[in-house]
Amino acid sequence: MTDDDGITDAERKMQFLYALRSKGVTETRILNAMEQIDRGPFIRGLFAARAYEDMPLPIACGQTISQPSVVALMTQALDVSARDKVLEVGTGSGYQAAILSKLARRVYTIDRHRRLVHEARHIFDELGLTNITAIVGDGSFGLPEQAPFDKIIVTAAAEDPPGPLLAQLKVGGIMVVPVGQSDAVQSLIRVRKTANGLDYDELRKVRFVPLLEGLGKDS
Ligand code: SAM
Repeated sequence: MTDDDGITDAERKMQFLYALRSKGVTETRILNAMEQIDRGPFIRGLFAARAYEDMPLPIACGQTISQPSVVALMTQALDVSARDKVLEVGTGSGYQAAILSKLARRVYTIDRHRRLVHEARHIFDELGLTNITAIVGDGSFGLPEQAPFDKIIVTAAAEDPPGPLLAQLKVGGIMVVPVGQSDAVQSLIRVRKTANGLDYDELRKVRFVPLLEGLGKDS
């Protein structure tokens, strides 16, 4: 099939994967997961035609779906294995959770907007992604009833890595979180929990919407 520019689906997919490789996404497992999950269904309306461009795009509730290369680099930094139980804070469109579902045993994803969670659940059902549980809630407190987690990914910017999330990470686990003021460029931090404490490293600069307290107005 070709789109309005005369580009076939296969060519578009090759361009998409090439853009990821050129931004430093090197792991075949991650590239395979990104190839399997089509970003198109996660974007509706006006911006749907731009789904295969490497840029963040608006979604409902004034939120954004992250840039694919940032999704891939965060996933790579998380070092997900097939036995992992992963928590994502910030379901948004559901795209990041869908990628994780191809790499992990089980994914829990939580968002403060009910509408986003409902729409994401619908897409997960349509795609047959049965190992994702999407929950409405304030993810700053994590999901104590399912803790501890092997990996935690936060896809909204916090001023500091939230304490409850650090507490719900297994020893040996990894958390990736953008940290900094919400209206500025933030630092993407990787936290490794060891028997002796927490090791932090800064991965790159990013720009995310803020991690907010409480539920969204629609919830
Ligand atoms: N991961 C998403 C995706 O793949 O489309 C993009 C996430 S978007 C950049 C950030 C999301 O974090 C928004 O949907 C927002 O509602 C959510 N969020 C912000 N604060 C939150 C909180 N305290 N608990 C849960 N979700 C939160």
